[in-house]
Amino acid sequence: MFFERINSFRRSLAFRLAVLYTATCAILSIAAFLIFYQLMISNIHARTDNALTEELNECSSLLSSKGIATLKEEIYRKAQSAGTGKAFLRLLTTDGKEIVSSDLGPWGGIDISKTALQRLAQGRPVFETFKLPGGEHNARVIYGMAGPGMVLQIGRSLKDDEEILEDFRQAFRTAIAIILTLVALGGWLVARQALSGVREVTRTALAISDGAMEKRVPLTGWGDEIDRLSQTFNHMLERIQFLITEMREVTDNIAHDLKSPVTRIRGLAEVTLTTGRSLDEYRSMAASTVEECDSLLGMINTMLEISEFEAGVATLNITKVDISALIEEACDLFQPLAEDKGLVIKAKVPFQCLVSGDKRKLQRALTNLLDNAIKYTPSGGTITVAIEEGEKGVIISVSDTGRGIEADDIPHIFDRFYRADKSRSESGAGLGLSLVLAIVRAHGGDIQVSSSPGAGSLFSIVLPREKSA
Ligand code: ADP
Repeated sequence: MFFERINSFRRSLAFRLAVLYTATCAILSIAAFLIFYQLMISNIHARTDNALTEELNECSSLLSSKGIATLKEEIYRKAQSAGTGKAFLRLLTTDGKEIVSSDLGPWGGIDISKTALQRLAQGRPVFETFKLPGGEHNARVIYGMAGPGMVLQIGRSLKDDEEILEDFRQAFRTAIAIILTLVALGGWLVARQALSGVREVTRTALAISDGAMEKRVPLTGWGDEIDRLSQTFNHMLERIQFLITEMREVTDNIAHDLKSPVTRIRGLAEVTLTTGRSLDEYRSMAASTVEECDSLLGMINTMLEISEFEAGVATLNITKVDISALIEEACDLFQPLAEDKGLVIKAKVPFQCLVSGDKRKLQRALTNLLDNAIKYTPSGGTITVAIEEGEKGVIISVSDTGRGIEADDIPHIFDRFYRADKSRSESGAGLGLSLVLAIVRAHGGDIQVSSSPGAGSLFSIVLPREKSA
């Protein structure tokens, strides 16, 4: 249990972010320290070398001005005034024999570097660093010409400088330990705080998966990434809930609409079985059953077709379609039906018009609109189908002088199974306009409706114009 918690803590994003901050901070601090430390070292070395060079120059000018006796005195004086074990001076011949030297006791004896003496021949002073007795600290030494045939060797202990550097290293180690602890803690707290929104989203998702569909992620109102994520998540939940409600309604409607024809088929069969005696009665039952099944199949096929369009998987057989001809053909087709009902159909196609589309589907959309216009227009009315050029494309309009649609119903008539015709006086399943909308949208077009109850309706399909090559 304990190890599980440790493991899940180690896998958490907050922990990994905190580690990342800390590692970045550690790398940057160490890099800054190294640069600063190097600068300090080179500064200290330069300072020591300058001091040694100055002393060398002083001694050589003393030798040339006041002679060797004064230089000897100066050698003792300088070594003494520097402090015990802090500096030494030694006058040598060019082949390395000692002429005079300050007290070398505290230095534990110092070798004379043959290579340094050889390199002196090039005329410039030579610097060397060597370990002091005990091996803990270093000393810097200069070899330089003090006068003709005389070499001066001056050494300075670097103990004080190295102690300063060691103090600095120690201070840095302490500071970095404190800084990294604070950064790790701060980073973890900041990451935890920043990710609290994500935890809220997770909690909401868990509650929803347990059935609390109404749950939403509370927004902080800061407008940051997490707030936007929560907003998007809530929006997605609204959409899912809407789709679920819609699906439920569609399923209810399907069940309801399938129930009636199936009940009718069953009733027919039952009545014929109990009362029917003759072959004609059985034949008539079979014919009615076929008719009911056909309408049922028609409904199911339309439903499937709409679903395919909505899912974007319907295949369109795109060709150049002559819309003018299509309208005239459709009007001719509905002419007998309209005449039977005492209606007039007019086709207003003043010009030939081509659009890219699936002829059969466009025919289907137009015949659905015409079918509705005939269904919902009482005898004596007029139905007009026209085309005109619009700003966004070709407009195909189907207008009638029928019963019209109530304003409250207009936003819903394109919904599946919606029927504004509450009395159900006309046949229909409420799928016709949904299919028209799906077909028009699949062609990149749109459909609009304007209607006033008692005066008639106008359905206008806008289809993108055929692009001229
Ligand atoms: P239906 O099979 O009921 O005709 P539709 O999807 O074709 O289904 O139409 C939905 C509803 O819109 C219809 O029930 C009807 O009330 C209304 N409607 C459609 N076209 C017209 C029209 N031309 N005039 C009046 N009402 C119409």
